[in-house]
Amino acid sequence: MPRQGVPAGPGEPDWAAAVAAVRGLGPESRVLLICHVNPDGDALGSMLGFGLALRRLGVRQLQATFPGPPEVPEPLRWLPGLELLVPATEAYPDPELVVCFDAASESRLGELAGRLAEPGPVLVLDHHASNTGFGDVQLVAPAAAATSVVVEELLARLDIALDAEIAACLYVALTTDTGSFRFDATTPAVHQLAARLLATGIRPGDISRQVFDTRPFGAVRLFGEVLGRARLEPPAAAGHGLVWTYATQDDLARHDQRPYVLEALIDSVRCTAEADVACVLKQVGPAQWAVSLRSKGAVDVSRVAAALGGGGHRFAAGFTGSGDADAVVDRIRAELDSALVTS
Ligand code: AMP
Ligand code: MN
Ligand code: MN
Repeated sequence: MPRQGVPAGPGEPDWAAAVAAVRGLGPESRVLLICHVNPDGDALGSMLGFGLALRRLGVRQLQATFPGPPEVPEPLRWLPGLELLVPATEAYPDPELVVCFDAASESRLGELAGRLAEPGPVLVLDHHASNTGFGDVQLVAPAAAATSVVVEELLARLDIALDAEIAACLYVALTTDTGSFRFDATTPAVHQLAARLLATGIRPGDISRQVFDTRPFGAVRLFGEVLGRARLEPPAAAGHGLVWTYATQDDLARHDQRPYVLEALIDSVRCTAEADVACVLKQVGPAQWAVSLRSKGAVDVSRVAAALGGGGHRFAAGFTGSGDADAVVDRIRAELDSALVTS
């Protein structure tokens, strides 16, 4: 049952408009692909997979970019199509088509949000129920497990065949957002998509090892320290429990690690049996934290995140918090009770 207020997903006119926008491109049309800040496997994989497909169509003037520092997390630094990436400051000033991936709102596009006002149409591919409806053509499928599901359907409608490079990108996106096929969004259709991707010859073992199971020894030590200070609060969320920890920029510096290594931390925290809600605060400035929230089902963490200025999905959400870590957790605790799932 779709939740109340959740858009149903793209209709035939939306698909037709998206197909027409892509079919209208010539070899010299300038196309700008953008995705959300601090891109994850779904954002980058969907964007680069689509970029490679456009290149197969003969589009030559093609750029991909994201806001913030132009740094690709090490586990994704082998993705096919990385050569399409340019720093946000170097993106075409006058693209004829902008395609936006995995971003629920303009605020997730940072300094690139201005690009949405370009004269060329803006095509939005996303799967957040909270998508604000920005852009000109919305392919927003809240039931989809990943933005890459939407990408693959668009490619099929454009008669662009999957090859191993496109498939590697889309497979990374799909496995990232389904937790390697562990989450409830993993429908039969998700496995059928995975089968089509694997049929191109990509190697799931190699891909998973690079994306999920490889990190520097310094990161292993850093995780030990940060997990060692995790706190369990059984009374939080009306007794469903909260577990949380934090990592500072000083922690990163002491272990000589880049911020991306902390993205995997939430997965080690959220396995805590005694807590429905897990939270990791990652320091991004003197008194600023990128906060990750996860739920096992009793709490809709997207409501907590939205109340605190962010967004996301029911089981995985985030926001940027200001102040010291305790103050940010105070604010989360205060929102948990009103985000309990009742049906
Ligand atoms: P993360 O914890 O960074 O893996 O993010 C989990 C989910 O929360 C993602 O799917 C994002 O859509 C969403 N999210 C994370 N941070 C923010 C933010 N600052 N604003 C809006 N949504 C966010
Ligand atoms: Mn994402
Ligand atoms: Mn996604």
